[in-house]
Amino acid sequence: MSFFMPTKVLYGKDIILKNRELIRNLGENFLIITGKSSRKNGSLDDLLDVLEGKNVQIYDETPENPPTNIIKPIAQKYYDADVVIGLGGGSPMDAAKAVAVLIENPHLDAEDLYDKTKYSKAKTIVCIPTTAGTGSEVTQYSVLTFNGKKRGFSHECVFPKVSFVDYKYTMTLGKNLTISTALDALSHAMEGYISLKSTPFSDTLAIESMKIIKEYLPRLLDDPENEFYRERIMFASTLAGMVIAQTGTTIAHALGYNLTTDKDVKHGLATAVFLPFELREATKFVKEKVDTVLKIFDGSLYEFFALIGLRLDINVSDEEINKWANIASTASHIASTPGNYDLERIKLAYEEMREKFVF
Ligand code: ZN
Repeated sequence: MSFFMPTKVLYGKDIILKNRELIRNLGENFLIITGKSSRKNGSLDDLLDVLEGKNVQIYDETPENPPTNIIKPIAQKYYDADVVIGLGGGSPMDAAKAVAVLIENPHLDAEDLYDKTKYSKAKTIVCIPTTAGTGSEVTQYSVLTFNGKKRGFSHECVFPKVSFVDYKYTMTLGKNLTISTALDALSHAMEGYISLKSTPFSDTLAIESMKIIKEYLPRLLDDPENEFYRERIMFASTLAGMVIAQTGTTIAHALGYNLTTDKDVKHGLATAVFLPFELREATKFVKEKVDTVLKIFDGSLYEFFALIGLRLDINVSDEEINKWANIASTASHIASTPGNYDLERIKLAYEEMREKFVF
């Protein structure tokens, strides 16, 4: 077995301010890719403080679930950047990874990102998460929206060189975003744990991550300004990211992508609602692991989800289920998921999601 995660992770409160020279020594021309919230949570201020005197450009228009076609224009506009910083949730970090590849390889188009034989290097990538869930700060993945569908690419060259993980930027996250991002982390840990690509290394991280989320997410929702709880969830999210860097995600992610693109359901909610189904299907193949997960959650994931109020405010028709099942049935995630995911089984997964979480 192996474990590969070449990102230097600097973790703790005020971690950017405490590593001023380390950041400054990465280059001269910095491009910060972010959204609007980094101006409110203090992260952009910290970053601009440590980069004072350097050439700094800011792209702050990153939309949620960034479409592939914004990547090339950003790379062309900021062609002289030697360090690309993804600051925010998964969307800015994943966009930053893609932009870093295209600046380094200006002859490529954005769709070439999906052909890893076409490139081997990217500009220096730095990630700074301001939500606790995506794990992108410790992975080789970037998920973009290509032709209306969520589609990830994976390449060792987009592992960030350094990531600065500071829970204080999550202190102002609202309740819904706190839940949806934490459930993304939970999905990463759980999917990675039962994945056919899991190893004892990744399992150790996954179990710890699941235990922390079970223990502290409900408490955090009752006490959202509690720094200790915020830190715990940030830690669990980082662990879960390290898990999927080894295992990838499994079927719940592939199923959830359709709810996000067609129904605007937040990514973490969209995947978590399929975890009970995925877990049950896995029982025949990895029973001990399923038992371990259920033990962490006192025997039932549904109870945990009820406790945190997980539900989807959408309508789902039979036609939509057929359409989504067709798309999901071709997903690469199936190969690493324990279970038999033919078209009928995938339709069942969507029907069960509708029955349990759509009211
Ligand atoms: Zn995810």
